[in-house]
Amino acid sequence: MSNQQTYSFFQSVEKSFDKASKFTIWEKGLLEQIKACNSIYSMRFPVKMDDGRIEVIEAYRVQHSQHKSPCKGGIRFSDEVNQDEVMALASLMTYKCAIVNVPFGGGKGGIKINPKNYSVYELEKITRRYTSELVKKNFIGPGIDVPAPDYGTGEREMAWIVDTYASLKPGEIDAAGCVTGKPITQGGVRGRKEATGLGVFFGIREVCNMPEVMQKLGLSIGVEHKTIVVQGLGNVGYHCSKFFREHGSKVVCIAEYEGAIYNENGLNEEEVFQHRKATGSILNFPGATNLAKSNDALELACDILIPAALENVINGSNADKIKAKIIGEAANGPLTPEADDIMSAKGILVVPDMYLNAGGVTVSYFEWLKNLSHVRYGRMEKRFTENMNSNILEQIETLTGKTVSPAERKSIMHGAEEVDLVHSGLEETMISATREIMEIWHKNPSIPDMRTAAYVCAINKVGVSYTELGIFP
Ligand code: GLU
Repeated sequence: MSNQQTYSFFQSVEKSFDKASKFTIWEKGLLEQIKACNSIYSMRFPVKMDDGRIEVIEAYRVQHSQHKSPCKGGIRFSDEVNQDEVMALASLMTYKCAIVNVPFGGGKGGIKINPKNYSVYELEKITRRYTSELVKKNFIGPGIDVPAPDYGTGEREMAWIVDTYASLKPGEIDAAGCVTGKPITQGGVRGRKEATGLGVFFGIREVCNMPEVMQKLGLSIGVEHKTIVVQGLGNVGYHCSKFFREHGSKVVCIAEYEGAIYNENGLNEEEVFQHRKATGSILNFPGATNLAKSNDALELACDILIPAALENVINGSNADKIKAKIIGEAANGPLTPEADDIMSAKGILVVPDMYLNAGGVTVSYFEWLKNLSHVRYGRMEKRFTENMNSNILEQIETLTGKTVSPAERKSIMHGAEEVDLVHSGLEETMISATREIMEIWHKNPSIPDMRTAAYVCAINKVGVSYTELGIFP
């Protein structure tokens, strides 16, 4: 019998919170309030399936904190959904938003279904019914609670949500801001799809650019030539792999449910994705070696391990076998608290989920702002910048008597498009958050790990926000 202590996901989050709260100035009562889930909506509703059967669907929406409004967080479709998981994920959203200065409280939703077992029409009916349940209880709205994609959901589901919401709220001018991660045609923003993966890349790149951190880990500075293992080839894993590969890292292994593939010379995520689409499996990818057990990928020697699938994949049973130098938590909660302690003892740097995967919600914030302002980013200034750049260039060419090449001209002239501004805002956000957390850790060396430093950062910001609200007369 193992004497390992097992925690529910929410208990794990509470445990990490308690570990960090010692390093803050807040009184016990305020810490209790920050930690608590404010509102939990657990629902059951019937949906008629294609074969005429009625199925009762179990679903949740949790609003962890309203210290800022609206609440914000994705909706996941998964067989594993339960109240504890949604509570944990909603709490992480509060802390995540606080760290990256996105002015939202945390929320999360979940529908306990495996989307693969349903037709598109059935999924649409489930999503629309879920949305109308949220509307009925005032659990959704641009100023109340704004869902987004998460595990098992994407643009399509968000389009159903905004359409259902808007049809139930005729004349609501800001209705498009009731959900983010929408298709561009339905009020989405360019750059949202790759946002989480790109945010993970920006965060890890910043860590890799810190000489003292790299020296401690025995690694060279920068992401170039680093070996990467990615677990999960969903939206987040795919984009993480893409950005690391494009910046000179080598993605040596990609893992999915059915197994993992390894190639020491690096894998191209798009080719692997197409292979999986065509054959139904990641295995037998040309030039790569198969690893029959998907979880074996986590134990490979590499510089950076990126779990980009589900929670608790690194736990008491496999933590001591991890050989990576850095773990970048792209998924929510991939390490249990026990695994965390083992990583600290082994000197492995865990870059924590709740800020590292904040790219999604950061760009969701940009999308929400776009929806409220009713104007596309770049629309006002793109031509102005291009005309100005053109004048400057002409002046320089006249004064120097030299001309630049057409390619250089294009790059100098370029006025920012929506996607440029979104990527730039995301880069700024991830760099600042990484530096802020590292500074907190640096200033207080008794903080045991980066996750605790991130929690300290989050708790302090939420604490200030609560006291500013004056909720404790
Ligand atoms: N589901 C994503 C997350 O866990 C995005 C949430 C959002 O955009 O609101 O951070």
